[in-house]
Amino acid sequence: MPKLEKKTISKEEVLKSAPQLFKPIGTETIRSGGRVEIENENLKISLRYEDIKFSVDNLPKNEEEMIQTNLHLSDRHILRFLNFKPDDFYELRYFLLENKNDCNQIELEEYDTRQTRIFVLKDGCDFDGSSAHSLEDYIRLNAEPKTVAALLIAFHEIGHKKDPNISMWDAFANRESEEDIERGNKKMLDRERYAWAYSLSKLKPFLPGMNADLEEVNAFIHEHCLGTYSDFIKNNNQ
Ligand SMILES: [Zn+2]
Repeated sequence: MPKLEKKTISKEEVLKSAPQLFKPIGTETIRSGGRVEIENENLKISLRYEDIKFSVDNLPKNEEEMIQTNLHLSDRHILRFLNFKPDDFYELRYFLLENKNDCNQIELEEYDTRQTRIFVLKDGCDFDGSSAHSLEDYIRLNAEPKTVAALLIAFHEIGHKKDPNISMWDAFANRESEEDIERGNKKMLDRERYAWAYSLSKLKPFLPGMNADLEEVNAFIHEHCLGTYSDFIKNNNQ
C-alpha cells in the first residue's frame, strides 16, 4: 500500500478549528433573472442560476420510468447524476469572482473550455458529496459557492475536469489483483491531489480578501478532504 495521509480530522473538527471557511464571504443580494451577488469590502462574486433545461417536460422519477421514455442520453446522465431530483438543483450559468483592489479575477468561462455543466444544490451547504461525473462533463455541487470551503470544493471539482493526466475511470477500473488495487489507489489519490492543487492555485489570490487563513485552508484540504479519501481507501482494502 502506498503511504497515506497521516491523520484525518472530522468535519466537526474543521468547523470548530476553521469556522471562517464555512461562513458566507459577504452580504448576499438576490437580483432579477437568477442573478446573485455576494460582496464584502475586498471582493465580489457574481453568479447567475437557471433552472435545468431538459428536452421533455415530464421527467421520469426513477430508473424504471426512464426505461419507458425516449429521453436524450444527456438528460438520462443528468437525471442519474442528480439522483432523479433535478428540481433540487440550479444550473450555474455564470460565475465571476473579482478582487476590488487588484485586477485578479476568475470568470467561469475562462476555465470552462469543455463546456462543463455545473449543477448546484439549492440552499446547499453540505461540504461533502460534491462530485465531478466520471465520464460526462457534469459537476454537482452540494454547497452554494459563497463560502471559502464551498469555493475550494467547486474549483476542486473543476480541477478534476481539467486534469490532463489521469482518466477518472482508471481509478475504478480493473481492481482484481493486489497490484491493480494499489495502482488504482495511487491514481485516485493522485487525482485528488491534482484537483486540490488546482483549486488552491486558482483561489490563493482571493484568500486574504475572504479573510481566510492559508493554514486553515490547508487543514481543510489535507486533513479533512484528502484524509477522508485515504480513510476510504484504507477501509476498502481491509
Ligand atoms: Zn475529488
